[in-house]
Amino acid sequence: LMHLTRKLIEIRTMLISIDQSDALKLPSIVVIGSQSSGKSSVLEAIVGHEFLPKGNNMVTRRPIELTLIHTPATNGQTPQEYGEFPALGLGKITDFSAIQRTLTDLNLAVPASECVSNEPIDLRIYSPHVPDLTLIDLPGYIQIASMDQPESLKEKIAGLCERYIREPNIILAVCAADVDLANSPALRASRKVDPLGLRTIGVITKMDLVPPEQGASILTGNRYPLHLGYVGVICKPSGKQGNKDTLGTLARRSENDYFGSHRDIFGSQSKLMVGTDTLRRRLMEVLESSMASSLHSITNAVQLELEEAQYQFKVQYNDRRISAESYVAETMDLLKARFKEYTSQFRKPQVRAKLKAMLEERVMDVLEQLYWTDKRAPELSALGADPRVTPDSIEPYWRYKLDAASSLLTKSGVGRDSTLLVADGLRALIDSIAQGEPFNHHPRAAERLIQFSHTLLRERIGVTSDQVENCIKPYKFEVEVEPREWEQGRVEAVQLFDRELKQCEDKLKDIRTRVGGSRRLKNLMGYVRELEEKEKERKQRRLTGGEDEPVPEIPDDYRYPPAQILDARHAMLCSDRIGILKLRLAALKSKRCKAGPENDVLCPEAFLSVVADKLAYTSAMFINIELLDHFFYQFPREIDSRLLYDLDRKEIVEFARENPVIRKHLDLQERKDKLEEVMKQLNSLATLRPDVQPTPRRQ
Ligand code: GDP
Repeated sequence: LMHLTRKLIEIRTMLISIDQSDALKLPSIVVIGSQSSGKSSVLEAIVGHEFLPKGNNMVTRRPIELTLIHTPATNGQTPQEYGEFPALGLGKITDFSAIQRTLTDLNLAVPASECVSNEPIDLRIYSPHVPDLTLIDLPGYIQIASMDQPESLKEKIAGLCERYIREPNIILAVCAADVDLANSPALRASRKVDPLGLRTIGVITKMDLVPPEQGASILTGNRYPLHLGYVGVICKPSGKQGNKDTLGTLARRSENDYFGSHRDIFGSQSKLMVGTDTLRRRLMEVLESSMASSLHSITNAVQLELEEAQYQFKVQYNDRRISAESYVAETMDLLKARFKEYTSQFRKPQVRAKLKAMLEERVMDVLEQLYWTDKRAPELSALGADPRVTPDSIEPYWRYKLDAASSLLTKSGVGRDSTLLVADGLRALIDSIAQGEPFNHHPRAAERLIQFSHTLLRERIGVTSDQVENCIKPYKFEVEVEPREWEQGRVEAVQLFDRELKQCEDKLKDIRTRVGGSRRLKNLMGYVRELEEKEKERKQRRLTGGEDEPVPEIPDDYRYPPAQILDARHAMLCSDRIGILKLRLAALKSKRCKAGPENDVLCPEAFLSVVADKLAYTSAMFINIELLDHFFYQFPREIDSRLLYDLDRKEIVEFARENPVIRKHLDLQERKDKLEEVMKQLNSLATLRPDVQPTPRRQ
């Protein structure tokens, strides 16, 4: 029969890990008592070791789920005694003072503001000297709250105890012999939930502190009858610390001495239960019969839960099993595949196009800076239109200008800027992968992904930009242009100007609608021009010293709101720009420009476009070699080696469970598996105990 309790304790542990609902609970013994009633001493006497936290100020703040596992001697060898905290992963602890320290730490970790916590501490003790038992130690009832304890603490402890003393648990009510039972909070609490005393055992401690006759009369239970009876004990610690046998032997001896010397009162004829050994035996019997009688109902409950879990697993996941490992592997494959898919945006033509776009913007800046703001700019268009002008007859002014423009473009830090442009594109790509499914569920992995890819990029940026800068160096001195390149450059310049023209026109149109039509815009612009004239005049007068004569103010009814004046100024800039663009577009489309590269001075736009082409081509080539090839090769390897490489089993599970979809799946699967296992064990018990029939399947 011993085997049954033990098996059921195992099953109980599994059931607790499945869920905390009362339906799936096998009974345990819950130890309650007021502070200083000797609760800890009783528990330690049962275990045979000092291991509970000691101290005056509320040392037990969390319930301790204490599972005792009897380890029988094999081949005459006495197995080692040890404790284990399964939740902490500390392994076997053979030193019971270390267990005591750990328990103290765990209790003290509960913030003083909370005082008590509902979260149980799971402690298992393996020993040849303990019976198979499960005991739950709860914070002691307090009578009077001390100065530093809030009044609510009393209720909090009572509430916690109340949760644990519910059915089917057995209540071990600890009362000191020298305190009137009428004042025992433990008995009072027990009577509330178990009025007939059917599942309460009384333990009367400190039997040595009252005359034996008085002690014996308490144990008869005449005043407060309990079906399971009272056991009297003496668990006085000897005071000598550090000796392994202190509790086990010495204390027992003094207890035996006491009851032995009062055999007339406590002897076997008295039918009173006394002594720690009796208590243990009693607890085993009670727990066992309680568990056995719970067996049938628990088997039914587990069967129901199992069927529900199986049904849900079928419906929700079509019985598809997953594992944390497979999820991790799939996630990594997905990451690589997605990366590969995205990298198509970084083939050479795409990179070249991106760089070209960047350089075209720069070409426009150079043109604006050197040509459009030059007062002589219209001359250039006139020269181009004059058929008598030959390349040699053009003033050197324009040749210098073109050289300066080309220099400005080639020396504008193309190496660094083009490298950064591409690197930034890669960075954005990685960031978008890191933010998307499923990495949005895995912030730490996403962070690592971003970190190592940034490191990879950072390592290459310097080398790459130097290499690119080095390779475009020749263009800083001379750019040779083939007729084919010229034509392409010219066409591209036309396209660029067309786009720019369209943008300016669109902007103008926007402004026109915003201010309310072209008439109004024209008036606005006229007004602004007038303003500008006035401003110029005023400046002039200030210079010539004629400040006294007032400049006529513009009449009030002509005034416009400042936002519209700003619009008008923009509109004027746009229309100026449109004028220039149209002029230059005509030049770019002229016979002379089409003729060939010998007209570079007259068509700087075409020439600069060719230079931009060459810069983009060369940059793309070296960025590809120095940055992209390297990154594309290295990235998948970094995923393998840095992202999830050295995760242990626990971390893999943690990672997988970060994803709520996977967590739900794993939870249900685990629940089903555990229930199946429990069911199997319960069924095997039925063969052990012929009086327990396997439950019929639900229809
Ligand atoms: P708890 O607060 O209920 O856990 O009580 P403890 O187990 O810490 O015991 C309170 C005090 O009573 C301690 O000083 C113990 O040494 C003492 N004590 C416990 N059991 C006995 C006993 O059987 N006889 C005597 N004389 N003292 C005891």
